[in-house]
Amino acid sequence: MSAAGTLTLLPFHFKKLGGDRVLLVNLNGEFTLIDEGQFSQLLEARRPGDLGSLYFPLKGRHFIADDDLDLAIELMAVKMRSKRAYMRDFTALHMVVITARCSCMCDYCQASSTDPASKGFDMTPEVAEKVVEVIFDSPSPGVKIEFQGGEPTLNWPIIELIVKKAEKLNRKKKKYLDFVVCSNLLHAEEKWAKFCREHRMAFSTSLDGPKELHDLHRRSRDNGSSYDRFVRNLAFYRRSINPQSCSALLTITRDNITRLREIIDHYLGMGFRSIFLRGLNPYGFAVKNRDHLGYPAREFVEAYRDALEYLIELNMKGTYFSELYAEFLLLRILTPFSTGFVDLQSPAGAGISGAVYDYNGEVYPADEGRMLARMGDKRFLMGNVLHQSHGEIFGGPLLRELVRESCVEMLPMCAQCVYQPYCGADPVRYYVERGDIRGRRPGSEFCTKNMGILDYLFGKLIENDERVMEVFWSWIQREGFRCVPDEGK
Ligand code: SF4
Ligand code: SF4
Repeated sequence: MSAAGTLTLLPFHFKKLGGDRVLLVNLNGEFTLIDEGQFSQLLEARRPGDLGSLYFPLKGRHFIADDDLDLAIELMAVKMRSKRAYMRDFTALHMVVITARCSCMCDYCQASSTDPASKGFDMTPEVAEKVVEVIFDSPSPGVKIEFQGGEPTLNWPIIELIVKKAEKLNRKKKKYLDFVVCSNLLHAEEKWAKFCREHRMAFSTSLDGPKELHDLHRRSRDNGSSYDRFVRNLAFYRRSINPQSCSALLTITRDNITRLREIIDHYLGMGFRSIFLRGLNPYGFAVKNRDHLGYPAREFVEAYRDALEYLIELNMKGTYFSELYAEFLLLRILTPFSTGFVDLQSPAGAGISGAVYDYNGEVYPADEGRMLARMGDKRFLMGNVLHQSHGEIFGGPLLRELVRESCVEMLPMCAQCVYQPYCGADPVRYYVERGDIRGRRPGSEFCTKNMGILDYLFGKLIENDERVMEVFWSWIQREGFRCVPDEGK
């Protein structure tokens, strides 16, 4: 315990904002704003009385402790354990690649999908059985199985096999069990819809905007309009399963980056209540087509901010519509809860929050690892369900290395960044971009995007406009606790 009447600064990061304001954020992401004079006062204070009116706000948010240092540390530790509960739970999201075949040939396809007629790219019943057994050996109390591809519905019997086997195993394991089919919605059958309804399955899909934008890069291999079939099948699944059975994400390219407001209107017109504004990722066909699809990260941030301004306006006028990335960050900033979004965790969520099972039984810590393997580099192969147990796959040296090297708290520059408690590491992406899993984060695309978005959100939080805060809380409360945007297609 500290000596009576002394003051201890608890660990925090800070950033000078415009004017003379300084943002303080502690290890658990609690934040406060003070001015430069108060900041100097804080640094120079030796006793609680030196802080005047700053004392209670700073103590209440765990920026300082006095005689109760041990208790303050214990409270911080409890909050940290809550925020990091996903680590204790271990892998909850299991992405299963049912086939690499696809009826589309999207210009930015990260999965390097193959022609629907190609042979040898489907998951077999033998692999599927093993995948489910490995998934159910995960200690996580919740299991979400996401069917991915290619287009997973092209190998529908394997989806049914996995769902039935998972439900059978779960009679004993009693986990929270969820199924999501990530589909381009080019295909629909009555019996599939019936199965989804009976097993409470949902669809996650992609929509790039109005017809001319959607058909531009989400090209159907038979040269028909992918948009027309998408619209028809979306209506069919909503009618046959339930109106909220499909969520969608947008892939932002150079062609639609200046039209986000119009695209949001289009989503609204189609009955969606949210959108996930996703930038291009450096995998698969997106690498090959980067020259005509890509844009600088700063341009993405500008477009993203403008889209959020528009969404806030819409919500303030009474139309509920949220953006899932902002929703997730706000959940992290404004609540004490653990959030399971794999892309933004420290240590990285790769493997410990989510894992990918390729059609041939190979297991990767992240979808990007699988995509990289498709491009010829198996750096992130953790094992294969056909010959290895859960313990061998997830307890191996690769995952240990990823965990060890992906703690944002220890990465150069990130260690001092005020946004560190809300940010995460993406070692596979760094490896692709820079050749090593630690990467060089400050100045990278990843950092520019996250920092730009967090600067914007904190600007709003600091302004503290009552109506904007109501919008943010409505996003968190009505939709936020879902908190893991699906990977989509
Ligand atoms: S992005 Fe999805 S829908 Fe498009 S080609 Fe790739 S796997 Fe198929
Ligand atoms: S990546 Fe950028 S925003 Fe994230 S913690 Fe590191 S320096 Fe901060």
